[in-house]
Amino acid sequence: MELVFSGYRISQSYGWKPFGSGLQFHQGIDLVKSHKSPVHAFTEGTVLYAGMGKTGTGLGNYGNVVFVKDKNGRGQLYAHLDSVAVKAGASIKKGQVIGYQGMTGQVTGSHLHYEVRKKTAPSYGWESDQVHSTLEPTAYLQNFYPQPAPATFTKYIVKAGDTLSQIANHYHTTVNILKAENNISNENLIRVGQVLRIPNAGNPVYYTVKSGDNLTEIAKNYYTTVNKLVSMNDIKNINLLQVGQKLRVK
Ligand SMILES: [Zn+2]
Repeated sequence: MELVFSGYRISQSYGWKPFGSGLQFHQGIDLVKSHKSPVHAFTEGTVLYAGMGKTGTGLGNYGNVVFVKDKNGRGQLYAHLDSVAVKAGASIKKGQVIGYQGMTGQVTGSHLHYEVRKKTAPSYGWESDQVHSTLEPTAYLQNFYPQPAPATFTKYIVKAGDTLSQIANHYHTTVNILKAENNISNENLIRVGQVLRIPNAGNPVYYTVKSGDNLTEIAKNYYTTVNKLVSMNDIKNINLLQVGQKLRVK
């Protein structure tokens, strides 16, 4: 499982907290790096609002905020920022700097309050019932990206007369995949009795390249490596991905 808040110290988690003689609901998670350190977007999305959260809008007391609508229609709120680095209407990518950690709004110290609201309208999804109008951020982000089934392998023992391309054809895979998976540098040098690992035999998974994608990010999302993607897809120049290009990722 991905570590969604790596680099941050969690100063307060989501949920019910002791407060005075009772309990108070914390509708987000408080994250600390250092004052004015860059805040990178946890996912891609569209910025609906960036700037000082005005009272009565659903963003009051949150200081400088960036409010992002994501692919699930949820509202991700980055709050108490020292300053914002994006504008309303912008499409942002995962990892993009959206602002800087700060202590604007109702706070006692510099931190990032990150909140996931179920809706983005009205009032940017704010409801007085915060228990039921927000989601636990850690689990939300861990499940944000598709988690492909773990790779499965078939074993094949090389017989006399076999060629790697015959074996690849038989298992509906490619010579490049077999070479990458078995550390074979010369496909003509396989020997009788050699045990080959055949990954995901017959179940290739493809990904269609979108604008702004890069191989590192795609590899990360599919729990593979850039080298494997390059080899499986015969990529000559890793910086020349084309939008709409179909990549085999498994
Ligand atoms: Zn908070």
